[in-house]
Amino acid sequence: GVEIRLASRPQGWPTHDNFEVAEAPVPQPESGQLLVRNKVMSVDPYMRGRMSAAKSYVAPFEVGKPLDGGAVGEVVVSASEKFEAGQLVLHSLGWREYALVDESQATTVSDEAPPNAYLSVLGMPGLTAYVGLMDKAEFQEGDTVFVSGAAGAVGSLVGQLAKLNGAKRVIGSAGSAEKVRHLTEDLGFDAAFNYKDGPVAEQLREAAPDGIDVYFDNVGGDHLEAAIGAMNDFGRIAACGAISQYNVTEAQPGPRNMFQFVTKRLSMRGFIVNDNGHRKRDFFEHVAPLVREGKLHYEETTVDGLRNAPEAFLGVLRGDNTGKMIVNVR
Ligand code: NDP
Repeated sequence: GVEIRLASRPQGWPTHDNFEVAEAPVPQPESGQLLVRNKVMSVDPYMRGRMSAAKSYVAPFEVGKPLDGGAVGEVVVSASEKFEAGQLVLHSLGWREYALVDESQATTVSDEAPPNAYLSVLGMPGLTAYVGLMDKAEFQEGDTVFVSGAAGAVGSLVGQLAKLNGAKRVIGSAGSAEKVRHLTEDLGFDAAFNYKDGPVAEQLREAAPDGIDVYFDNVGGDHLEAAIGAMNDFGRIAACGAISQYNVTEAQPGPRNMFQFVTKRLSMRGFIVNDNGHRKRDFFEHVAPLVREGKLHYEETTVDGLRNAPEAFLGVLRGDNTGKMIVNVR
């Protein structure tokens, strides 16, 4: 089967040269293992961090070895009593056609939603949006919420969940006119702007004349500084990501207005979704009905073919995607 390996570690922006498409023998499952043929896989911004050797909350990818990440596939051979051939399972060995998955690392997915949904709205990005908004930013009915990366997998769900739970006003930023249109016309955001059109602070002030109570940060940099400036007293920030910084080669200066944390009594909490497994049940009970009733929209951008997974990943960093970027493995 085909697999995608890390060929070298990027300096700054990754390129196709950092990846190698290789052929590997199809493994045979031993007791307690499953042979899974992947159908769909996820490419995510956090994978940029794993391409570097620097110590972080997940181990780096290894040069010469296949990358990994969320995927849904069909069990082809089961050497486990818990699974049978033909079942669809969610697991973490994407970037390859055939995966040898330990039974403890696989979960069955129901056919009530398409497999891709378990990589987006009903999966990791969905839980990230839910936990970040509800727990970390302590969202309250009547809040005005600003989310950056708003047309992406996590951001688009944050804005909609805020709206569905009684936000007073929801504002999003994204990187193209079409994405801005999508936010206000398709997803129900009250206002949106293209951060490439001018200074974020000015555009945010116009979009939120009465200030914001919650900022869900996917971007960092000037977005974060602008949000601090627009915060109302006792405002809360969920620090989810800082994609504007992932490909920089030199550390950037932080927000220049940190004293506003004192004067406005602000708080900011960073989090990693993996620490929040205990919230999965509540998340599912909240979000699954909204999806079923068509109240929560989840857009996807799909790329066909495992060989094009590196291109799909580079596309996420560039902003090619609206909603979740998904690779159809086959
Ligand atoms: P997205 O689907 O949002 O894709 C990334 C988007 O980032 C792109 O589409 C692009 O959209 C935008 N972007 C790229 N460069 C910049 C830039 N310089 N400034 C502003 N926007 C930029 O990805 P996810 O929804 O999967 O992830 C969103 C964020 O959440 C990331 O920061 C990610 O690391 C983080 N995350 C954190 C988790 C956690 O546990 N803490 C879990 C999952 C995600 P555009 O066209 O608008 O520029």
